[in-house]
Amino acid sequence: MTLTVKDKVCIITGAASGIGRAIATRFVEDGAKVAIADLNKDAAEQTAKELASKGPGQAIGVAMDVTNEEQVNQGVQQVVDKWGRVDVLVSNAGIQIVHRVEEFPFAEWKKMLAIHLDGAFLTSKACLPHMYKQGAGAVVMMGSVHSKEASPLKAPYVTAKHGLLGLARVIAKEGAAHGVRANVICPGFVRTPLVDKQIPEQAKTLGISEDDVIKKVMLGGTVDGEFTTVEDIAEVAHIFAGFPTNALTGQSMVASHGWFME
Ligand code: NAD
Repeated sequence: MTLTVKDKVCIITGAASGIGRAIATRFVEDGAKVAIADLNKDAAEQTAKELASKGPGQAIGVAMDVTNEEQVNQGVQQVVDKWGRVDVLVSNAGIQIVHRVEEFPFAEWKKMLAIHLDGAFLTSKACLPHMYKQGAGAVVMMGSVHSKEASPLKAPYVTAKHGLLGLARVIAKEGAAHGVRANVICPGFVRTPLVDKQIPEQAKTLGISEDDVIKKVMLGGTVDGEFTTVEDIAEVAHIFAGFPTNALTGQSMVASHGWFME
């Protein structure tokens, strides 16, 4: 059994930074053709340039706001025009906003659900027809331990990440007849700009030190007090994207240093 994304056309959203960038790096190293789709066009193009220069795969930058249906459709079409197909979608773009429920501004709640849920829906909707036509494809969604566990201050994030499990399971059931698989990756805390931003915010809201946010809130439940790394998550994405049979479809995998076990 060979597990590879070599020569596969992959669209990775939010790939100009953090986890998405690490997944793009892993896929290009394995010989994939990767579209770095991101809100930040300059960073997407810069990332693509860096990855393409190392090879052996290829990379292009694609400007895309995953909450905007027109931009999603245009971005996916741009990839199909260039490479003729879409084999893998990694729906990864995401942000974090933290407040207690009773203080959560409604506009921010809606923004969170739009990026995490509308983004996964719109990118899947745009890619699936191409995958169905080919009779093969893989959709990988970036969930979180918060797809299975709650934390204070993160109502829309936890709600949206739980929702991705449902969406992936529906795609696994609908896609099976067309050779399309769907999975969710559920990382624990990974040190990226998204997490770095939360440390002072949570310290302020919870009235504790930044060191306590890291040691107690973020890593207190792990078996070893360690952050999960972007490379750990890229490896799990590679497994789901490259797995050659339907055996794992519909499943989610938690990678969290034992913070959450099932
Ligand atoms: P990050 O901030 O490093 O990267 C997120 C990327 O998404 C950025 O490049 C940003 O420009 C892009 N983005 C934001 N809004 C977008 C939009 N509307 N359209 C297109 N691109 C957009 O964050 P990260 O930590 O790498 O997070 C990536 C994913 O992993 C997110 O879905 C996040 O919820 C999830 N996740 C992260 C952690 C963690 O601890 N870092 C844990 C579990 C899950």
